[in-house]
Order: sequence, then structure tokens, then C-alpha cells
Amino acid sequence: MSRLQLKSKLLILLWVALWMGSLTIPQNAQALTPIDLYLNGKKLTAEVAPRIVKDTAVVPVRIIAEELGAEVKWEDATRKVSVVQNQVSINLQIDNEEATVNGASRKLEIPPMIVEGSTMLPLRFVGENLGMHVTWDPRSQSVYLFKADANSSTSSVPAQTNTTADEIIKQSRPINLAESSKPVPAAQQKPGLTQIMVSEDQIELHIGLNVTPSLFYLENPDRLVIDLPGIATGSTVNGDPAVQNGQFDVVHPTISHVRYAVFSHEPLITRVVIDMNKKIEYEVVTTAGGLAVLKPKAAIEPELPKRKVFLDAGHGGDDIGAPTISNRYEKDFTLPLTNTLYELLKQEKNIEPIVTRTSDTTVDLDERVALANASGAELFLSIHGNSYKENRSIRGTETYYSRSDSLELAKIIHRHVLEANNFPDRKVKKSNFKVLRETTMPAVLLEVGFLSNSAEEKQMFSDDFQQRLAQALVEAIKEYLHNQ
Ligand SMILES: [Zn+2]
Repeated sequence: MSRLQLKSKLLILLWVALWMGSLTIPQNAQALTPIDLYLNGKKLTAEVAPRIVKDTAVVPVRIIAEELGAEVKWEDATRKVSVVQNQVSINLQIDNEEATVNGASRKLEIPPMIVEGSTMLPLRFVGENLGMHVTWDPRSQSVYLFKADANSSTSSVPAQTNTTADEIIKQSRPINLAESSKPVPAAQQKPGLTQIMVSEDQIELHIGLNVTPSLFYLENPDRLVIDLPGIATGSTVNGDPAVQNGQFDVVHPTISHVRYAVFSHEPLITRVVIDMNKKIEYEVVTTAGGLAVLKPKAAIEPELPKRKVFLDAGHGGDDIGAPTISNRYEKDFTLPLTNTLYELLKQEKNIEPIVTRTSDTTVDLDERVALANASGAELFLSIHGNSYKENRSIRGTETYYSRSDSLELAKIIHRHVLEANNFPDRKVKKSNFKVLRETTMPAVLLEVGFLSNSAEEKQMFSDDFQQRLAQALVEAIKEYLHNQ
């Protein structure tokens, strides 16, 4: 049956009905509010406006036929309408709350009716049974229909719309259902933004369709804006009824809030705003399965090359260094401390430590300089223990540098060591040691304390002290590298 035939038959039916005084227009249908209807973001027009009757959207049968592409048949005698599309056959009857879908009986929220000469069908029932997603937006009094195969129909959304509109979403708040006078009942979870999941390493948007979100950033405060073309908000988002817009807090190192709202109706865009306390750039990594996944760019980018740090345990092997007050050797103090520091630095993601020696071997000063200069290290740290037999009460920490390019490193190391060992401050000093003079990178020689002093020697050989000092040196090295 053509549209004209259908229309003329409806007109005849209406005329007959009016003549006979038998056509009852439901009371609700008389005091109704017209609503807007969108299909995949495009506004549909109809001679008889779609409207809400008893909390249910009804639309002219013409829209079902022409816009949804279903085959519609009208049977005068029985006042029956059949809607057929693909493998689905829906049978309805004017004023009858019973319908069938592929032969199975279904109860309708509201029966089909005739309004202003048009047969009006309950939209959600028909649309959803035809495999469409139906969403009601109470604020704009609009119904959104989505065909399941509709994707990226509005993919050329401008990346940056305008900040004024962003301010609208900024002021948005969770919708109070009491304010939404005409909710569409019995919403099912189908395409549309239904879930926003923020975890430490990704943002997941459940949108039902495979559309590519467009991302941009706004400042003061930093926020990531995600526009979802052709996507409406679901009837619930994260389980909360938030048809038009909403927001929620998240516990996250850099993200504080998530807000969302229908940003534009034509074209249809739902906007999600991620409020950040520190700007982190995200990238869309997948849009498969109706799920858009965004990950921080830093997590995607290859790791930066490690920064090399050269550690020199003073003395070793035949070179015992200074004898200590309890007749131990300086070389036996410097090696375990340096090895501890070496192990700690190896655990640092961005640092590669290199050492002169890890055991009690003899390495002369020329070799130390040559090893360091060939290593490509950004800094050189030589670790020693001081001695002054002439006055065993002398104690404290000294840090040496030779060239001016090493002064900053010396100051940072000296400060961190004093914080850790609480020894007297014998200052950062300039000296002409060979390993400081001839190395080609900023170089420092640390005299942790006096092995000729009873109190300091005892501490310097203790494991706890060495662990604490190694940790302080890690912090110093990281601070220095960070400043470069
Ligand atoms: Zn020494």
C-alpha cells in the first residue's frame, strides 16, 4: 500500500468515525505537549506532531514507515496495523493494548490511537522491537532514535566548538528525576552513553556504537573534553538515572570530576568533560564493540632512554684507603655503601647506574677516569670515608668538587647526606682530586664522615646507616637529574 493510499484510507476512516461519533480521542491526547524527534541526530518532521500520551511517546505511523524504513500495512475492517522490517513483524490494533511481535503477545503502555487523522503508534515499543535505541531527553522534550548500524554519521564535528557551551556543561548538575515530567518507562541499556569508567591507566566510555570521539583540552582548570558524535546520553549513566546530564567524583591521581551532557542536538553530540588537577594528554586507543577506550599518551609512548649515573667506590684491592679507628679499612666502608646505592638506583625506572667496581678489586685513578668518561654518564660520584689520626675528635661530612660545572651536584648531594647522617657540616669544598678534575661530566667526591672518629666510624659501618645514606643519595641524584 502506498503512502497516499494509506493516508486516504485514514482520512476516510477519520471522516467515518467523526460522522458516526464513535472515534474517541483519548483525553490525554488532547492536552498534550508536542515533542521533537531525532533519528541518528537528524530532526524528523511530521504533519501530526509526535507527542507524549500517558508518559509514552507516540508518533505518526508515517514516520515508522518512511524514516525507520519499515513496511506498514493498514487493515480497515479490523483497524489493525502491521509493521514489518527484516525478520520482525509487529501487529497492533487501534485502542487495543495487546500487540504481537512475531506472533508473541505483548502488553502496550498505551494502545495505538488516531490523532488528527493520523494513526499514532507507541514509539519505544515499535522502535525497540525494530532494533533501535530509543532515548528520552526530558529537558529538551525530545526523543532520540538510533539505528544500530548508524555510526559516525556526524563524524565531521568541529574539534573545538566553543567555550561558552563548555560553561553550560560546567554548570550542569545531576538531573532530578522529579523534574523530568515525562520519562520513557522501562528503559533498556542499549546504545547511548551508559557508562564512564575512569581507572588509573584508562578512561572507558560505553557508547554502544563504534564512533571515534574527538578530544581537546581546555585550561584553567585543566580539562579534557571528549565529544561523542551521534551519541545521546543513556537513560542511565553508571547506573544512575541521568538522562540529560550528570557528574561524579573519582578517586584518581590526576582526575577529580567527570561531567557529561548532551552538548548539541543538531548534530547530536554528547560531551564528556574530565576535570584534571594536572594536564594529562589522552589518546583514543580503541572504539571496538561500542566501547571507546582512552589511554594517557605517556603510557603509549616508548620509554625514554635511561640516564646514566657513574658510581665510584673509593679504593679497593691493594689500595685499602685510610685505616679506621677500629683497624678496619676505608675500602670496606665504601664498597657496601656503593653497592647498596647501585642496587637502589637499578630499581629507578629512568636511571642506569654504572660502577667502577662491585668487589674488592684494585682500580687505579686513571682507570676510574677512563671508565667514567667512556660510560656516557651524566654525573660521577666517588664515595669515601675521611681520616685525621692527629685529632680523632674531628668529625663531619665534606663534599668536594673541582670544576664549576660540578658545584650544583656537590651542593645537592651534600644537603641530602647531611639530612640523612646528621653529622657536622664541614661544607662543600673545592679540590683538585684527579677523578674530579679529569672526568668530563659533573663530578663529586663525598667524604661521608671520619673513620678516625669512634662515633662516626661505628655508624658508618652499620647496615642501617648505609641503607639510609644510600637512599639519601638516590634522592640527591634524582633531584639533580630532574633539574637538568
Ligand atoms: Zn678515600
